[in-house]
Amino acid sequence: MPELPEVETIVRELARTLPGQRILQAKVFRPDVLREPPHIFCRAVAGAEIQSVNRRGKNIVLSLSPSRILVVNLGMTGRLLHLPPSHQVAPYPHRAVDFLLHSGGALLYTDSRRFGRAALFSEEEWERESERLGPEPLSPDLTVQAFHRRLTRSRAPVRSWLLDQTHLAGIGNIYACEALHRAGIHPLRKASSLALSQSGRLLRALRDVLTEALEARGTSLRDYRTATGEEGGFLTSLRVYGREGRPCVRCTTSIARIVLSNRSAFFCPRCQPETSSWRP
Ligand SMILES: [Zn+2]
Repeated sequence: MPELPEVETIVRELARTLPGQRILQAKVFRPDVLREPPHIFCRAVAGAEIQSVNRRGKNIVLSLSPSRILVVNLGMTGRLLHLPPSHQVAPYPHRAVDFLLHSGGALLYTDSRRFGRAALFSEEEWERESERLGPEPLSPDLTVQAFHRRLTRSRAPVRSWLLDQTHLAGIGNIYACEALHRAGIHPLRKASSLALSQSGRLLRALRDVLTEALEARGTSLRDYRTATGEEGGFLTSLRVYGREGRPCVRCTTSIARIVLSNRSAFFCPRCQPETSSWRP
């Protein structure tokens, strides 16, 4: 958390309001979220103009002028809030970095558990970092055949495969579990064991659930808020995630939970039968 729909929601909001704004000053309260020493970070962003706001995987990518890329990854509990002028920053808890804007507003990066990161890159450095991430699941450039080829290279359980950002960028546990349920695939299935038709079903399921969640502006389990501080509306549309013991919306069988790589995987034992599964 937050995953592609949550990060894309934040990016779309910030892209409407931030481009053209100048950063007056950064104030660092939690240096451990930075890659650079705080004084170097603050010097680099002071006076920079925000040119654009984009997303790559779960990363919020702000292009600054002079040419620098500021990348914010919200980790588990991070928020990036854009406050209009005259809004007080003081009441916001867990502030990690404040970016005070020339317009009088502020961009606040808050993070209670501080698994998130803010880092500066040159354009070339960020390009190299970005190339290490897998393709974007919503990109029309990603074909079923290419997706299937990537899956067949790995013997990892498919749920774990989906969480690896070098395979596919932007998927986390919520949408991995939801897409596997929609595609009728058990979370322990070996990635390499999927038939082309199953890979196709999985890619369609991923795209459907990501698109629907994006329309609802993401899922607020606990910490996620949009850039204007609102909750996302997809929580009630989840079919398996966090629903252990409750009836499957498709077949009424109780939703099961297993722990896989220290993360819960939720699934319906009937809709997602365990055939040719991976065994520890
Ligand atoms: Zn079911």
